[in-house]
Amino acid sequence: MADHVHVRLSQGLSVSEDGGLIEHSRCRCGATFTKVFDADGGEPERPTRS
Ligand SMILES: [Zn+2]
Repeated sequence: MADHVHVRLSQGLSVSEDGGLIEHSRCRCGATFTKVFDADGGEPERPTRS
């Protein structure tokens, strides 16, 4: 599945210590994603391994 395109299924939301909104997503392949909505409007994405 080298060309696998991750499907991000929402796993819920949480709030960081900085007050930012964090969206947790997970692909059926097991990959997880954390999308952070910072107060300044930035939306950095950091794929992480589970
Ligand atoms: Zn995937």
